[in-house]
Amino acid sequence: MKSPFENALNQLARATAVKKINKEVLLRLQKPEREVSVSIPVRMDSGEVKLFEGYRVQYSSARGPYKGGIRFHLDTNIDEVRALALWMTVKCAVSGIPMGGGKGGITVNPKELSLGEIERLSRGWVKLMYPVLGPSLDVPAPDVNTTPQIMAWMNDEYKKITGLPNDATFTGKPIEAGGSKGRGEATGMGGFYVYEVFAKEFGLSGGATVVIQGMGNVGSNAARIFKNHGSRIIAMSDSKGGIYSEEGLNPQDVDQYKKEHGTLTGFPNAKEISNADLLLLRCDVLIPAALENQITGENARDIKAKIILELANGPTTPEADDILFTRGIPVIPDVLANAGGVIVSTFEWEQNLKSEHWSEVQVLEKLKLILSSEAKGIYSKSVELKTDLRRGAFIIALERLEESMK
Ligand code: GLU
Repeated sequence: MKSPFENALNQLARATAVKKINKEVLLRLQKPEREVSVSIPVRMDSGEVKLFEGYRVQYSSARGPYKGGIRFHLDTNIDEVRALALWMTVKCAVSGIPMGGGKGGITVNPKELSLGEIERLSRGWVKLMYPVLGPSLDVPAPDVNTTPQIMAWMNDEYKKITGLPNDATFTGKPIEAGGSKGRGEATGMGGFYVYEVFAKEFGLSGGATVVIQGMGNVGSNAARIFKNHGSRIIAMSDSKGGIYSEEGLNPQDVDQYKKEHGTLTGFPNAKEISNADLLLLRCDVLIPAALENQITGENARDIKAKIILELANGPTTPEADDILFTRGIPVIPDVLANAGGVIVSTFEWEQNLKSEHWSEVQVLEKLKLILSSEAKGIYSKSVELKTDLRRGAFIIALERLEESMK
């Protein structure tokens, strides 16, 4: 299996095979502008000190300050963060927002840490990273296993160290700590707005059957939103495995069960299913909402979904893209499908800078306007170039990046 960064560079090269792109632009996107690695000392509850590896990759500032989340995961390393930072660069350009691309992370399993240890780790990351952060330099946000609470700690630490009066250095904060209305559900909501455009193009009617891999912020919100709009959620999973019911699951009950039991195992009136088998279920919409490299050359031939909506970053490999394209299964790419999060993050940043407070209706209306229009643009581009939606999206992003680099 190729590494996420190899896949990301490969996606870039594949896009330029269908449309000529300025050489200098491509050259500048082969490597990040800056990478920072730090070792964070954390006093554990036991009294001993442990060191954790932390990262920030600042990929491109061509279109604005670096923007992208911070991931806490045991498999997180500099290669993964680099790939995610390149995807953020493309995503922000696809969204038309005035942001560059970046990403951060810490190699850690936060489920093994107490709340106090997570707070000290989060503040520790900021203590070492603050010189390269700031509202006009680099604006981090949540990602896998990082929460609004963690953003509040990080923002507080940043303000303490630098004396900055505003809250615009971190987004995805709780509302009471300067967060924006609508940010919590923004990624799932955005995914739904994008889906609505393609459902029309590809003739999917209401009442679609939906399979969702992943129950973090994105997967759980998407399940709830799709269900509320008339879809039947036939399978859901967390990192350990999933559950399946042809009659449909109630996402709120599933969330509640997971909170109470810490697992989906034993959920009433549903069959257990592995994450690998869940991807192969017959359904209208398959939503990978967990990690990279899930749909690959190994399983793409056996996928039975009508359409794939990538709410995770990098869930489909280039080999799988080719197989799915030949089989006529459209893949709505991550850089569009999950862009709702970073778009509302940018609204949060703007509100913080101008001391404004927008209503949830305002936020969601603006989000829908952007995503519906970009989704239509990407669809037209892919039809015009007779290629898949990912390449269509990358071409649009590369043209915008070229414009800014000029
Ligand atoms: N982590 C999210 C992403 O992958 C959101 C980033 C942000 O809000 O800056 O797009």
